[in-house]
Amino acid sequence: MLLSDLQTGERGVVTRVAGHGAFRKRIIEMGFIKGVEVTSVLNAPLNDPIKYRIMNFEVSLRHSDAMKVEIVTPEEAEREIANHDDFRALEAEETTLQHIAKERSRTINVALVGNPNCGKTSIFNVAAHAHERVGNYSGVTVDEKVGTFKYGGYTFNLTDLPGTYSLSAYSPEELYVRRHILEKNPDIILNVVDGSNLERNLYLTTQLIDMDITMVMALNMYDELQKSGDRLDIEQLSTLLGMPIVPTTGRSGQGIGSLFDKIIEVFEGGGYRHIHVNHGRYLERHIKQLRTHLYEHGFSDEISTRFLAIKLLEHDSQLERYAAERDPDGSALQLRDQIAEGYKKGSGRRLVENVVDNGHKVDVESGHQDIESAITDAKYAFVRGALAECYVRNEKSTLHSLTDRLDSIVTHRWLGYPVFLLFMFVTFWCTFTLGAYPMDWIDGLFAWLGERIGEGMSEGPWRSLVVDGIIAGVGSVLVFLPNILILYLFISFMEDSGYMARAAFIMDKLMHRMGLHGKSFIPMIMGFGCNVPAIMATRTIEDRKSRLLTMLVIPMMSCSARIPVYVILCSAFFSTHAAYVIMGLYLLGMVMSVLMAKLFSRYFVKGDSLPFVMELPPYRLPTAKAVLRHTWEKGKEYLKKMATIILGASIIVWALSYFPYHEDPKQQAENSYMAKIGKTIEPAMRPCGFDWRQSVALLSGVFAKEVVASTMGVLYSTSDYSDGSDCSEYSESSEYSEDADDFRIASLIRDHMTPLSAFSMLLFILLYMPCLSTVVAIKNESGRWKWAVFTMAYTIGLAWVVSALVFQLGSLLL
Ligand code: GDP
Ligand code: MG
Repeated sequence: MLLSDLQTGERGVVTRVAGHGAFRKRIIEMGFIKGVEVTSVLNAPLNDPIKYRIMNFEVSLRHSDAMKVEIVTPEEAEREIANHDDFRALEAEETTLQHIAKERSRTINVALVGNPNCGKTSIFNVAAHAHERVGNYSGVTVDEKVGTFKYGGYTFNLTDLPGTYSLSAYSPEELYVRRHILEKNPDIILNVVDGSNLERNLYLTTQLIDMDITMVMALNMYDELQKSGDRLDIEQLSTLLGMPIVPTTGRSGQGIGSLFDKIIEVFEGGGYRHIHVNHGRYLERHIKQLRTHLYEHGFSDEISTRFLAIKLLEHDSQLERYAAERDPDGSALQLRDQIAEGYKKGSGRRLVENVVDNGHKVDVESGHQDIESAITDAKYAFVRGALAECYVRNEKSTLHSLTDRLDSIVTHRWLGYPVFLLFMFVTFWCTFTLGAYPMDWIDGLFAWLGERIGEGMSEGPWRSLVVDGIIAGVGSVLVFLPNILILYLFISFMEDSGYMARAAFIMDKLMHRMGLHGKSFIPMIMGFGCNVPAIMATRTIEDRKSRLLTMLVIPMMSCSARIPVYVILCSAFFSTHAAYVIMGLYLLGMVMSVLMAKLFSRYFVKGDSLPFVMELPPYRLPTAKAVLRHTWEKGKEYLKKMATIILGASIIVWALSYFPYHEDPKQQAENSYMAKIGKTIEPAMRPCGFDWRQSVALLSGVFAKEVVASTMGVLYSTSDYSDGSDCSEYSESSEYSEDADDFRIASLIRDHMTPLSAFSMLLFILLYMPCLSTVVAIKNESGRWKWAVFTMAYTIGLAWVVSALVFQLGSLLL
């Protein structure tokens, strides 16, 4: 709990002091250090400051300051001891309270900060034994992930943050990371740096240094650095930057142990020295001037005044607001404006300025109009200066030559497209054609299971629930697990190898014409897996307009939840060409998304799209472990969905179609609640060629698209009674039953649908409203319900129009 929560007369032991710079120093000097006992002498409501007794003398603290001191009370300690039996034994003379306080202060909060794609998540996974997604393109991690583990007698709370190139207020990720550092006050920032790309990575490091936080650097991709033949004097770089640097290879886990040993050492007070990034004499003078002003106006308690001064000079909008709130007379911003103005006027005279970093001279051109670019340049100059002293590049490096050779084909102006189509073809061919074999086995297993269980139970609602509800419903969706695993295997491989970034690159021109962005392409391909993470992945698109457009059209990308319905309908009516029909649907989805994007960008979504730089990371052979793990994670999610949403929906659908119960099976099928609902909406769906069963199936798909398949499974197997056959033998109810390989439901469906209505339904499923999770994701990511509702409306409208057109034209022609 916090010191401020301590009531008059109560006592506690300090476990952690958060807060920053001057504040922290002041409070520690007062005696608030780890392990010290504090008693609240007077803490009346509305009484600010609060009086405390510490080390036998009294001090008073502002309420807001007391909120930054974490403590443990005797009651908390007792509770904690009672709940855990694996605590180390109390040492002699040690009270429970002291013991727990010690345990607590051995907790280290570490945040991973670094450029996109530098290996943060890989390190996170090794350290926290986690299974978060890694991918060889930027923007895989979109929000924070926390992992807790014990190491070296300490408890670590490790937070994996989104990747950023800088800490300005331009993109949501940058703001996110900055806010995390400022508000959560991690004990140690673990700055992960891509060793094969030092200059750009260290730019972020210079900004972190400005923030005056305690850092340790992981020099990741160390294997690549070594292979490249580049030489880096780590010792020297570490001295220049003032922080320990530990070489690591996130992929194999090498060096991670030493990394955390180092973190412990720094946490306990060793090895970190705060340095200042030298921005050159002229800029430094201004920074100092503004900083002094900020310091005098009480800004130093929450934030490094140097960081704030630099950011204000960079016209950082978020920190401008921050400064304005805390400084009502606006003097800080006035001073900033003065300095910036003066800088602009004087810039003509300072065409060349020397920045001296540790004796190394670097020329900086500073004939800029604005102070922002001057600061950026000075930072790069600092980095270059540092590298010039300790880094020798191997000009004959072979590391990137493979990447270059592959890229000359894969991103070739003409060849790139057929190569991409080939990859897509192989992916879908394997998903549907190879996937058909294990699918048959599982289907057979469920048929057998249904029969055995059906035989073992006596006739009645319970048997119907188990056989027609649960087994038919869940079974009809579960059989698609192999397809989904295969699809994810391919997507993971493409992401991890770096190919996906290339695909996005070659699509950029095409995407631009649609008002989208090359970067929109990766989220769209991810949409083939599941729309929800795809919509979250749009966060990598800086440009708001493109981002919103991408979000709006992702539902057109056929997610894996739609596979069950496709396969069931295709094997019922188009079995010989199933793979082609399905691939056609995927293509149609892509074409529709592009058309819709074009339409929306012209009429609904306002704003200009920005030019951008697409990063092409070097190719990396994905580790089998990572790809398989990623695939399995998806499989697990799918199974979880089976056990929850699909199971629940199957039972509800079964109940609605079983009740009210009628002796006569025909009556039963026609008068169930389900039939009533279906018949109510049927008139609206008639033009598309759907009867009441199809209509309810589509309606149920709103929860999750797989539910369409499970609903059909339940509806058609219960309706089977109407033919007077026994439930356990329903495969014989169809005239097609001689086809042994056929799906059970497929044969039942043929009795109720025509190829044309099935085709119309396929189109409807592809296009109509995304599942509720996707709708919620759109609302969260766009920040407005308006866009979520808009997506629902346009997709349903589009699905209806396309299906109705196809069905009506088809009926005329056939
Ligand atoms: P993040 O974006 O910073 O979270 O980076 P990821 O952990 O997702 O990794 C990006 C890519 O780099 C993945 O393909 C990883 O397999 C790969 N990778 C991570 N660490 C290393 C490393 O030390 N060496 C090599 N060669 N590859 C790595
Ligand atoms: Mg990541």
